[in-house]
Amino acid sequence: MSATALFGNYARSSLEFDHGEGVWLVTNDGRRFLDCGSGIAVNSVGHCHPHLVQTLKSQAEKLWHVSNLHRVPDQERLGRRLAEATFADKVMFCNSGAEAMEAAIKTARRYHYDRGEPERYHIVTFEGAFHGRTIATIAAGGQAKYLEGFGPKAPGFDQVPPCDMEALKKVIGPQTAAIAIEPIQGEGGIREIPVDFLRQLRKLCDDEGILLIFDEIQTGVGRTGKLFAHEWAGIAPDIMAIAKGIGGGFPMGACLATEEAAAPMVPGTHGTTFGGNPLAMAVGNAVLDVVLADGFLEAVQAKGLSFKQKLAGLVDSHPTVFSEVRGAGLMLGIKCVVPVGDFVGAAREADVLVVPAGDNVARVMPPLTITEEEIGEAVARFEAAAKAIEQTLTAKGAAE
Ligand SMILES: *Cc1c(COP(=O)(O)O)cnc(C)c1O
Repeated sequence: MSATALFGNYARSSLEFDHGEGVWLVTNDGRRFLDCGSGIAVNSVGHCHPHLVQTLKSQAEKLWHVSNLHRVPDQERLGRRLAEATFADKVMFCNSGAEAMEAAIKTARRYHYDRGEPERYHIVTFEGAFHGRTIATIAAGGQAKYLEGFGPKAPGFDQVPPCDMEALKKVIGPQTAAIAIEPIQGEGGIREIPVDFLRQLRKLCDDEGILLIFDEIQTGVGRTGKLFAHEWAGIAPDIMAIAKGIGGGFPMGACLATEEAAAPMVPGTHGTTFGGNPLAMAVGNAVLDVVLADGFLEAVQAKGLSFKQKLAGLVDSHPTVFSEVRGAGLMLGIKCVVPVGDFVGAAREADVLVVPAGDNVARVMPPLTITEEEIGEAVARFEAAAKAIEQTLTAKGAAE
């Protein structure tokens, strides 16, 4: 094995992919993997979707980057389309999820600062949350394993257990600027926040003059069968961070906000060199062309239900391997009895990719364009993986 010149911060598999097509990823030697991970919920419309490829190619021949010193027409267009499709009035583009959350945090703090309450900068977040890997977003996520060794935790983040209104009420006060939450915790293990709790949060924020931030970086852009997961609760945030699926594989993110919440972000307050560049904006618009097409989201809902039912059957028939299926739309999780890494590895052996998460859960998040037939194929491959694990369990049992 040759030494790598790369930082050692990832525990990578040894797979190297040559190309992708729809839900399929193909290695150099022609091995075809069914991709139920979508590069962590990024390839929302599959690999090399023809409309995205064509859009990126023609944009690449015209213009790549001008910076935000100038108007970017496709940025205006994507912003307007996102605003029209959501609660938001205003949109600011960036390059990743963590940056989108940083923008959300800064917008919330600046809102209160502008209203003469600079001491109001605390953000309440929830145990099990993941908001990114920057210095501020690891403090927001609050997980010790991500904070360790990186200096003092950035101040102004208070954490409470999810769905615990009493604990939440105890920590909010005149210092509280915002509450930030993922409608379904992704990295935390596909843990759904009940819609009723989201509604209670909205009411609490309204009563206390607190801004509500949704981190829909993973749940957004059709993943749960609505354009954004909070729509299931029938309420809206004041600020929302998105990324992952909106770029379909092109790195981009955005912070969406109401007119009022976005108002303090005047020239000089915030910015990014790359954010919203013409290449990213062309692709983002192309992703919306697909996801907002008639019937697309309804199809995601139907396919999600069917996939979840089939996974429930799988879980029932392999109780020594799996214990539960959860999630919404095509953001599903299989809670494992065996270590989740064993299942992820066995699935890889069976030529199907899933993504490990917290709480011993394997995330099943295929491109939203997956077909019923491909769902059947994915479940068959999971079944093969489960059987392989059962065999090793039996062999171990016999040896003991
Ligand atoms: C992935 C993710 C982030 C961080 O996004 P990056 O693009 O990796 O910075 C933040 N929040 C949630 C909910 C995520 O899933």
